[in-house]
Amino acid sequence: MSIASLIQNSPRTAFSFEVLPPLKGNGIEKVFATIDALREFDPKYINITSHRSELVYKSTENGLYRQVSEKSRPGSVAVAAAIQYKYHIPAVPHLICSGFSKQETEYALIDLNFLGITDLLVLRGDKAKHEARFTPHPEGYSHAIELERQVNRFNEGFFLDGSHMTLDRPFSYGVAGYPEKHDEAPNLETDLRHLKEKVDAGASYIVTQMFFDNSKYFDFVERCRAIGITVPIVPGLKPINAANQLTVLPKVFHVDLPEALAQALAHCDDLAAKEVGVEWCTAQARELIAKGVPSIHFYSLMATESVRRVAAAVY
Ligand code: FAD
Repeated sequence: MSIASLIQNSPRTAFSFEVLPPLKGNGIEKVFATIDALREFDPKYINITSHRSELVYKSTENGLYRQVSEKSRPGSVAVAAAIQYKYHIPAVPHLICSGFSKQETEYALIDLNFLGITDLLVLRGDKAKHEARFTPHPEGYSHAIELERQVNRFNEGFFLDGSHMTLDRPFSYGVAGYPEKHDEAPNLETDLRHLKEKVDAGASYIVTQMFFDNSKYFDFVERCRAIGITVPIVPGLKPINAANQLTVLPKVFHVDLPEALAQALAHCDDLAAKEVGVEWCTAQARELIAKGVPSIHFYSLMATESVRRVAAAVY
């Protein structure tokens, strides 16, 4: 069953979360530990983030530095498979344009098909850290919708070179939406128009960027419905779990923190910030569930214990 069907057929608000592939050199145990901690809340699916290569400097024998392009978190496809086979919970790897050529994407789709993974979250991906703005791979894509089209063509049984195959299990996929607008979009209307295009291209659900004011999500859903977007819109929640997130989250994710939350965090150390974060996120989740949202997606990165406490309170 596709994720969209799983969500739609769930008798109550479904629970899902995301994990990051381990840092290069680390084992997969930490990923499994996160899942073990959250498993009791019956996750309907688990997302696995994907990461581009970044430029890093390596010291050489002669004392100079050499610039190399390296992935600090490789292995999204393999981690997705490991999760799906160990836990029998659908794994949803993120497929990104950033840093990937079309050919590399095709190889990833072939691997995923062999591994029995049929759900994806299709995204443009973040810009490289050294870049001021997103630059597409020379043989890749500028926007998520182009990647959707490659997946669609693959689903129809065509490789990039036009040769044909038989695909017994086509991919289904979701895309990202931004209640507070994507930071590069000139305005929310334009951003929503592009979101509608992504849905019309084949996305069967939307997962939102994190938000800390539920009214932003409700307004977003209303505006999506008004322009004819009918697919499920899964709210993304993150429990704040460190004092510096008061300034880091707005800077990195371009989201607002409501004044009451900002004030509550203003004089917190990390321990106190975690308490505020759990309380705030629990209140958000309670209201969203009461309004009957199909599913809540938790950004559990470095916040497994906080997500566990929120889930224990609301599920
Ligand atoms: P797009 O849909 O391509 O949109 C990007 C911008 O371009 C928007 O401003 C949009 O309005 C505009 N746009 C869209 N289509 C067009 C078009 N056809 N023509 C002109 N403009 C257009 N990043 C990662 O690197 N790895 C991850 O694993 C990851 N997971 C994420 C999960 C979720 C749920 C979310 C919300 C984000 C995630 N991100 C991840 C971050 C995401 O990749 C960035 O926010 C990225 O900047 C935009 O991705 P997108 O898929 O929304 O891009």
